[in-house]
Amino acid sequence: MPMYIVLLGPPGAGKGTQAEIVSETMGLVHVSSGDIFRENLKQQTELGKMAQGYMNRGELVPDDVTIAMIRERLSRADCVKGALLDGFPRTPAQADALAGMLATLNSQVNSVPYISVPAEVLIERLSGRWTCRAEGHVYHEKYNPSKIAGKCDVDGSELYQRDDDKPATVENRIRVYMNQTSPLIEYYRQKGLLGEIDGMQPIEDVTADLMAAIGKGK
Ligand code: ADP
Ligand code: AMP
Repeated sequence: MPMYIVLLGPPGAGKGTQAEIVSETMGLVHVSSGDIFRENLKQQTELGKMAQGYMNRGELVPDDVTIAMIRERLSRADCVKGALLDGFPRTPAQADALAGMLATLNSQVNSVPYISVPAEVLIERLSGRWTCRAEGHVYHEKYNPSKIAGKCDVDGSELYQRDDDKPATVENRIRVYMNQTSPLIEYYRQKGLLGEIDGMQPIEDVTADLMAAIGKGK
């Protein structure tokens, strides 16, 4: 049976960091909606140009566009065993659409680990975040530095600071998360899928809790 895991948590909670580790351990594809938007932006596709303004303002790209993008991604051959979803869904409409997509595959969301981190920590997490140009691997200048400053440990590519990690944009992204995404905590709790994880622990301890939460999934 394929396995679909949704990583939930505010921007800066550590979803991408954990997804990188867990996808490798479990042999599951990491599907990050933010990475797909950034790749489209880099390639200057119509989708990328359309998403750019929303991303720069720290707003959500409209549901219809985002849902179509994820539907296409999940239909690719590398997702036959399932996927680890990071950054999608972000609204109840996206969550309903995901359930619909998976139902057509006779499948469902199996577990929703929610990485919880207090809002006041997120600005420091995001303003110290460095992202790799080639593949989006993430580092933190204080909490998870790369071995060579400015270079990705995995592929040696240049590290950069995302435009939307500037404090003013981060504040808006946190507001957007509170208003539009945090209702998904209850949404998935009611379905018995939510596993809450303390995201303030060191990265390895978060991973251990995450693996335990996934093991308890449906
Ligand atoms: P998200 O994908 O949820 O936005 P990231 O995985 O990109 O979050 O993490 C945000 C920043 O916080 C990155 O710079 C990352 O290195 C750092 N980080 C991730 N997990 C932890 C942790 N457990 N403790 C301290 N810093 C962390
Ligand atoms: P992330 O890399 O997850 O922090 O996402 C970066 C930006 O991409 C967000 O601030 C949004 O503008 C856009 N984005 C990513 N995922 C979604 C989504 N599921 N729905 C709408 N917008 C998204």
